Amino acid sequence: MSDSKFAYFEGKIVPFGDAKISIAAHGLNYGTAAFAGIRGYWNDDLKKLFLFRPKDHYKRFLSAAKILAMELPHTPDTLTALTIELLQKENFGTDVYVRPLCYKADPGIGVRLHDLRDEVSIFAIPFGHYGKNEDSAHVTISSWRRIDDNVIPARGKISGAYANSALIKTDAIRAGFDEALVLDQNGHVSEGTAMNVFIVRDGELITPPVYENILEGITRKTIIELAREELGIKVTERSVDRTEAMLSDELFLTGTAAQVETVTRIDYRIVGTGAMGPITAKLKHLFNEVVHGRVPKYSHWNIEV
Ligand code: PMP
Repeated sequence: MSDSKFAYFEGKIVPFGDAKISIAAHGLNYGTAAFAGIRGYWNDDLKKLFLFRPKDHYKRFLSAAKILAMELPHTPDTLTALTIELLQKENFGTDVYVRPLCYKADPGIGVRLHDLRDEVSIFAIPFGHYGKNEDSAHVTISSWRRIDDNVIPARGKISGAYANSALIKTDAIRAGFDEALVLDQNGHVSEGTAMNVFIVRDGELITPPVYENILEGITRKTIIELAREELGIKVTERSVDRTEAMLSDELFLTGTAAQVETVTRIDYRIVGTGAMGPITAKLKHLFNEVVHGRVPKYSHWNIEV
């Protein structure tokens, strides 16, 4: 993290090393915090950085804060402005990943959400690719289950819930896989560890619906819109069984960090032809063009720093 020189912390931008919380902080002890993850793409021709859909990320961030009974004096616009100010000071000149966090800041013992001070922090780091094997990932089906809306709401990026994602990811990696698909309590395919999932069957794009304990991904939303509007592909939001995933023609994962990650094997079974399929390839290309601000129709998603 030594690449970050500054952070937004307790109401102002400070040197990164000064942004420190107590070991007694509520959010650290109880996971009573929520975060976001936003990418900025460096345009080398224009020598400018563009954030991808920051206001949508901050809208979801504030929804998670609301679930955690936080009262924050922020809007998606004020948080985007703060992020821009921070990135201007950092002046990385490369692709970046921005990590906003809202957390219960008071120290002390006592699990609850009320009567605690809420704070927001933001830092950024230079960032490249996330998945090691993003064009031919081998995934397993995790033996862990996805958190449920009535356990810890999955539609917010609530920090405590990421212990679930961490269990899934580490067991998958230690077993030799790149990533894992995780089933919800009903046994339907929900997501990856920090990505939404899409399958292609007979030319149709299918993804689990928002009421099946998924994170309502910004990349997911982007891919659905691009598939419908630009490629004229039918997109259906419905439950996906594990064997349907295994038997799909194409399968890919989407997320801010992962972008579009092609899965070519599930538990030693080949998905489709075993290589990136044509629909995935088209969407991946289009997504890449859009996030880099090369498609004027979608340039309202690229916010200049
Ligand atoms: N699911 C989970 C659990 C995640 O953490 C993420 C990453 N934010 C996603 C899906 C993908 O969401 P997005 O496209 O908004 O990054």
